[in-house]
Amino acid sequence: MKEVLLCKYGELILKGANKSVFEDALCKELRIRSKHFGHFTVDRAQSTIYVTPVGDDYDMDGMLEAAGRVFGISALCRAAACEKNMEAIRQTIRDYLPPFMKSRRTFKVEAKRSDKTFPLDSMEIAAQAGGMVLETCPWLTVDVHTPDVVVKIEIRENEAYVHAGQFPGAGGMPFGSAGTGLLLLSGGIDSPVAGYMMAKRGLRLEAVHFESFPYTSELALDKVMRLAGLMARYTGPINMHIVSLTQIQEKIQALCDEEYFTLLLRRYMMAIADRIAEQTGSGALITGESLGQVASQTLQAIGVTNPLATRPVFRPCIGMDKEEIIRIARKIDTFDTSIEPFEDCCTVFTPRHPKTKPELQKVLAQEQKLDFLNDVEKAVDTRKTKYILAHY
Ligand code: ATP
Ligand code: MG
Repeated sequence: MKEVLLCKYGELILKGANKSVFEDALCKELRIRSKHFGHFTVDRAQSTIYVTPVGDDYDMDGMLEAAGRVFGISALCRAAACEKNMEAIRQTIRDYLPPFMKSRRTFKVEAKRSDKTFPLDSMEIAAQAGGMVLETCPWLTVDVHTPDVVVKIEIRENEAYVHAGQFPGAGGMPFGSAGTGLLLLSGGIDSPVAGYMMAKRGLRLEAVHFESFPYTSELALDKVMRLAGLMARYTGPINMHIVSLTQIQEKIQALCDEEYFTLLLRRYMMAIADRIAEQTGSGALITGESLGQVASQTLQAIGVTNPLATRPVFRPCIGMDKEEIIRIARKIDTFDTSIEPFEDCCTVFTPRHPKTKPELQKVLAQEQKLDFLNDVEKAVDTRKTKYILAHY
């Protein structure tokens, strides 16, 4: 029996002329990700992408899970393909369906016929197939209103498909269809969620991580790399720029008033990120800031750091409570890694009494004591870059 994964897309169907560009992007993504799970062909027809294993050595569970993380796909069905006649469909129902029906009590059958030359109409196919399901799984009863499972029979161009229910896809827009964004990725909970959310809207991600070795450790950096690898299962590969803030932080500590340390540091981060964005063709910056979460995320503090960006700054967590952010972090499996206790450069030289309502003029007066633009250039020029692939 031939198994196939049907991937259906949602929102991008609306995109008229661009539709085929988006469809090609989706197929490409599925092709890349399928390589981890065996040899598969990826084709599209009638607003569905068919991921079909070649040979017997493949991992359909893994493929299903990976395809479930591809943005732009709204629903997935693991289906059996067969010839387009009711006898073949009967055989497939008998051979394929029982494992999916074990813990179910009620069902209904829905049929869809995109090949209008098929001799039975949808109602007739559903009625006959319903009888076949009852023959095969006699413990089931029909419930057309609230069935435990919907068995679908699809008569398409080349083949018929039998499946028992569809899984939700990752939703959103295909990889890179909205351009590129540069994520400021710390080792915390919020920034991986922010990156996930913007990648879901079609941004390809570059990321910048600021370290402060030896005040931050190799282990802290390793954690961020692992986080990026987990994110990449959704976002696709991430180009990670690692910037050292050690000298900048030491200078701030030596020359400036303590209550301004974090704000000054965050202005550097924004300026450096903006330069890297320029060099990498990133049209936006992305941060995990959430209004009022900490002293550096008050309206006034964001007002002081924001002007260093010369492109839009997307903050998808800005209106979310920590609990809401954590729910997403758990869903995308970054939470357990994020809470590993390693230091972040923001937690090095933390002021005892940070300014929560800073005034820009006073921050600028502090900044005068530093060599801001030169420091930014130097930090940008001495960055290291690593290409992070998904960790499966
Ligand atoms: P997170 O959970 O994302 O670390 P947070 O609540 O700890 O967020 P902050 O440390 O104030 O908040 O950081 C706010 C945002 O600034 C982060 O979401 C991230 O986008 C960026 N940021 C903070 N530290 C770093 C870092 N070391 N490297 C890159 N970006 C950072
Ligand atoms: Mg943080």
